[in-house]
Amino acid sequence: MLDVLAIGAHPDDVELGMGGAIRAFLDAGLKVGILDLTNGEPTPFGSPEERMQEADAAARTLGVTVRRTLDLPNRALMDTVENRRKVAEVIREWRPQTLFIHYWEDAHPDHVQACRLCEAARFYAKLTKTDMKGEPFYPNRIFYFFSNHLRGLHPKPAFVLDVSAQMETKMAAIRCYYTQFEKGRPDGAAFYELIRARNAYWGSLIGTAYGEPFASREEIGLLGIRELVR
Ligand SMILES: [Zn+2]
Repeated sequence: MLDVLAIGAHPDDVELGMGGAIRAFLDAGLKVGILDLTNGEPTPFGSPEERMQEADAAARTLGVTVRRTLDLPNRALMDTVENRRKVAEVIREWRPQTLFIHYWEDAHPDHVQACRLCEAARFYAKLTKTDMKGEPFYPNRIFYFFSNHLRGLHPKPAFVLDVSAQMETKMAAIRCYYTQFEKGRPDGAAFYELIRARNAYWGSLIGTAYGEPFASREEIGLLGIRELVR
């Protein structure tokens, strides 16, 4: 049903890490969904209602029509059997060929747990003889986006995607999260410039204006030789 499912611990994580890629998949005619594991609250200047409105606005800005928020606890997100089953049921329902999840190292504990939880849920989704809803399904590929809380690390990505054509849409989606990046924060503009600078850095490594990096634990197979010559 879906080609791509991006899963974030909190609303805004996937926009920051791969908003350009999401728009690029949509531009290519692919079906993309977003799953937020928590509603992201509490935060210093947000409320659950505002966060939901912001997430809806960001999805509309990107052009994503499939977005759901699970009821897992913010700041206390854990890779538990119960939570694996909840995520696996969504994977069985939406049947995405490719998963994008949090990179495995991060300063935010929720992001680290989200990574483990989603890797396990990918496996759980294919299980038979279970009372989980839906039919067994196994996403063919899994990639990892880098979060805003990645500090002290410069992981080597498996690939960098050119998002030059999608960068302004990505920034517009990020700006939907007013309670997170502007409300009560005099340095909002500086934060947006930081995001732009990071993506410009990754783009510079592949000779484009902007890029988004992605990691992989698994080998990435090329099904055609054309990508090696361009
Ligand atoms: Zn987050």
